[in-house]
Amino acid sequence: MQNISDILAQMTLEEKASLCSGGDFWHLKGIPHLGIPSILITDGPHGLRKEDGDPTQIGLDHTAPATCFPTASALAASWNRELVFEVGQALAKECKSEGVSVILGPGVNIKRSPLCGRNFEYFSEDPYLSGGIAKTYIHGVQSLGIGTSLKHYAVNNQEYRRMTINAVVDERALREIYLAGFEIAVKDAQPWTVMGAYNQVNGTYACEHPDLLEAILQDEWDHQGLAITDWGAMNQRVEALSAGLAVEMPGPNPGNDASIASAVKAGKLEEEVLDQVVEKILLLIFKAHENIDESFQYDRDEHHALARRAAGEGAVLLKNSRQVLPLGKEIQVALIGEMARTPRFQGAGSSLVNPYRVESIYEEMIKIAGEERIRFAPGYSLDKEEVDPDLLQDALATARDADLVVVCAGLPEIFEIEGLDRQHMALPEDQNQLIETLTGVHDQVVVVLSNGAPVEMPWIDRVQAVLEGYLGGQAGGGAVADILYGITNPSGKLAETFPFRLEDTPCDDYFPGGPRTVEYRESLLVGYRFYDSVGKEVLFPFGHGLSYTSFAYSDFFLSAARIDEQERLKVSLTVKNTGERMGKEIVQLYISPVEPTAFRPVKELKAFTKLALGPGEEKEIVFELDRRAFAHYSTSLKDWQVESGEYQVLVGASSRDIRCQGSIWIQGRSDHAIPRRDRLPAYLNFPANARIPREDFEHLLGRPLPENLAEEKGTYTLNTPINDLRGSLLGRLLARYLHNQVEKMMGDHSQSPNAIMVRSMIGSLPLRGLALFAGDRVNPGMMEGLLTMMNGHFFQGLIKILRSSRNQR
Ligand code: BGC
Repeated sequence: MQNISDILAQMTLEEKASLCSGGDFWHLKGIPHLGIPSILITDGPHGLRKEDGDPTQIGLDHTAPATCFPTASALAASWNRELVFEVGQALAKECKSEGVSVILGPGVNIKRSPLCGRNFEYFSEDPYLSGGIAKTYIHGVQSLGIGTSLKHYAVNNQEYRRMTINAVVDERALREIYLAGFEIAVKDAQPWTVMGAYNQVNGTYACEHPDLLEAILQDEWDHQGLAITDWGAMNQRVEALSAGLAVEMPGPNPGNDASIASAVKAGKLEEEVLDQVVEKILLLIFKAHENIDESFQYDRDEHHALARRAAGEGAVLLKNSRQVLPLGKEIQVALIGEMARTPRFQGAGSSLVNPYRVESIYEEMIKIAGEERIRFAPGYSLDKEEVDPDLLQDALATARDADLVVVCAGLPEIFEIEGLDRQHMALPEDQNQLIETLTGVHDQVVVVLSNGAPVEMPWIDRVQAVLEGYLGGQAGGGAVADILYGITNPSGKLAETFPFRLEDTPCDDYFPGGPRTVEYRESLLVGYRFYDSVGKEVLFPFGHGLSYTSFAYSDFFLSAARIDEQERLKVSLTVKNTGERMGKEIVQLYISPVEPTAFRPVKELKAFTKLALGPGEEKEIVFELDRRAFAHYSTSLKDWQVESGEYQVLVGASSRDIRCQGSIWIQGRSDHAIPRRDRLPAYLNFPANARIPREDFEHLLGRPLPENLAEEKGTYTLNTPINDLRGSLLGRLLARYLHNQVEKMMGDHSQSPNAIMVRSMIGSLPLRGLALFAGDRVNPGMMEGLLTMMNGHFFQGLIKILRSSRNQR
């Protein structure tokens, strides 16, 4: 490895500052005369998305072929750390062979609402599970000398106005829910980079947030790697650098680089702070460079097989009445639904992989059972949502003669796109009607779903089985066929709750908020933490998933009845496969404080394991819990605190299928500082409709809620979204111009999901984000001028623009 201090000592101030923005869309800059190479970083997370066009432009649809592994939604449902490690290694191999040094993933944001357009890219509603999967992904990738980018740090749980929205969240929810997954992954796996989110967290942009970046990520969690921005997330460059944000992406941004150098010269930024950042950049660049080996090759078939195995472990059998599944090969199947033939296997946006091969359920079922056993009818078309009577009739006719009906349904591509949240939780109307009608003509209907987040199932009581295939990647079709015919025994479990309807979700009244803020009033009660705490029925609970075999839990034992918080508790039990097939069971451990003084969810996941058992086989499991499993975050101590008292240890097959339990008394060490819940009536007695009065939320926050009205002409700032500038004529013209430019840029791809994404994003892009599209044709002075004009001071603005364009020349 090069001597970093020597190189640093040779660098001019301007050269150091120049490394703080990227070289183009996908490279970190190099400085050839100093021997500093440039390195390539690309998306992620569930496959490589390496653009093969001009790296100085946003490219959308031309990327190198790669293996499309199951999306995060499916990977998490496998609950299989070893498997995720293997996927991580495979991703690293593909990076290596393409000369990529860092893959932009994994995404560890919490699934706060089923509607977030990027839920398919995230793992879970639970931070312990998210963090556990993320850390093994990172270990897998990094074990082969390729870096990761843990994203999007932090509190980025929606797409609506994602570039400017201010997430208002109380300190405990921040620590216990929204940061905890990042914390696990950073402390355990040290991702080479962490990607700062677009949004604001409690009034400060995530990429310039001293608490998030410096106090927590660096000082508390000891992150050794680089913090980089999400693409276009930079707001104030010098503030961001002072907070510890090293590299702005994409680049170059000569204006911002120069502002860093000027701040040092003006004494506003210590050169030492810049040196520390540059040292980290150099360390990463050289570490990455040493690992580049473009002659490296991987075996595509092996990766495809791994993708199929992973998709098989991530699919969740939600219902299986009368053991209708697995199917015998001799059964005459009516396979209904366009998605059986045209697979839905990933979401759109920056994670869109160009797979070199894709399996469909239809073809794979034929391979297993033979063409004569499968009769197909599309049932609905993918480009509209209204019932097509001809397709429906054809489907019914196909179904009538069959022994059993398999309907492939799911969310069409435009429902799951980065940049757009879903508006509702329903499947398209034609699909719901199709399923409903089929149950009228046949009493053996199996539904297979392809979607990255929960959907409502109004027909659930009338179908016999439901297999949630998630967005299972390029081999998802084969994985589903394997499960349907019992070649694979299903072993996935839900990493998120499926509520009956959207109105049941705890943030229903507060998602996605806007125009300026989104209030996280439900605080800690996200997902099952809410449903279980208020006793609300759900469609399928967190952790639920069926198998073709059965498991018995026994010999439950706690190593002590009473411990001090510094001691560890061992929880042991035996799990036996009591059926006739080999199977895998995911065993989950939850902790439930008995009579807490602090506001606590009724139970929380604190350990899990997945074990494979042959028929009749049994194994002992031992979980070891440390104090953190019992702790909550104390806002007065600014630390994790264990309250003295009794805790239930619950072990089960899902959050609502607890098979063994015991209790432990824990002696805490700082009981004097437990906050009093009685000052927060709504949180003490959490309402089942999750409506939290403003005063209670303000009390929890410890401050009044911030302003939430759109900016008006006269108060516009560089952070005002383009669509909100329409109060000024110039703003309207700018919005129209940009929308036209986007249409031109899309050319032949104007209906592609990525075009839909960019179209929707342009309106919510803050004015400062123009630089993303205009590059160095606009400088900060020009932007200021434009803003002044839009705020009603035409001539003053014009003068600013003329001056700065003269300076630029
Ligand atoms: C996304 C990131 C992605 C980046 C680069 C952003 O829009 O939020 O997840 O890694 O683009 O494509």
